[in-house]
Amino acid sequence: MDLTGKCAIVTGASRGIGRSCALSLAGAGASVVVNYSQNKAAAEEVKKTIEESGGSAVIFKADVSLYNECEGLIKCAIDHFKRIDILINNAGVTRDNLLARMKVEEWQEVIDVNLNGVYNCCKAVLRPLLKQKSGGRIINVASVAGLHGNIGQANYAAAKGGIIAFTKTMAKELGSRNITVNAVAPGFIETEMTDELSTAVREKIMERVALKRFGKPDDVAEVVTFLASSANYVTGQVIAVDGNLSM
Ligand code: NAP
Repeated sequence: MDLTGKCAIVTGASRGIGRSCALSLAGAGASVVVNYSQNKAAAEEVKKTIEESGGSAVIFKADVSLYNECEGLIKCAIDHFKRIDILINNAGVTRDNLLARMKVEEWQEVIDVNLNGVYNCCKAVLRPLLKQKSGGRIINVASVAGLHGNIGQANYAAAKGGIIAFTKTMAKELGSRNITVNAVAPGFIETEMTDELSTAVREKIMERVALKRFGKPDDVAEVVTFLASSANYVTGQVIAVDGNLSM
């Protein structure tokens, strides 16, 4: 997998799955824009790790739920690396609650970050990507919740299901420009997002995981890097990275 000379933007790259994607893409040779929303120190650490391995990275603070900040993120890539080839829409949040108790704000925030954030970044990247005329790769981080639903996650499942439909539509719209658009649907991956789940919930989920272990961020990053580099004839697909939790 060789991404030498390519530039990748990873949203929510300060921690968890996004961090692993940034390191993996950099390991394959890409220059990386490490996006974060709050945690500057963590983003700096990702940049430092990439640079210590001989790669190039820049950090950029942007809230993906705000269109103008996404435009700034794309501009950062062009300003620093003179091009943009790969966009990984990874930033996401959860505000779990049963619908009966879910506040309007909990619904709205999850839709704003997880779904509108994907629209914002894709919309902002499109013009420079098309102008460049060298194809491109967009990979959206969905979830098994977007494929099958999940109790307590109506907001999150709706956003992730929306991402999947958006991915398939973008694949159709952009195929003729050699821009592939795919999604990954992680299952239970050990990150700060899943840290907050109780032991009882974890045990219940584990019963359904065929591989009998929770996923690691690197398990997702490997698939993302494959889609960003080798998978020339793959578009509009959703790859579950879930140890067979979703079947
Ligand atoms: P995480 O450890 O909680 O990290 C979330 C990342 O998103 C952080 O880098 C955070 O930045 C960033 N972020 C949050 N809100 C943002 C915003 N408004 N604008 C820009 N960045 C923002 O989460 P994770 O587990 O790695 O999840 C990454 C993606 O995988 C998410 O889309 C999530 O839905 C999806 N996913 C995760 C799992 C899982 O089991 N972990 C399963 C399925 C899907 P700061 O550090 O600056 O706050």
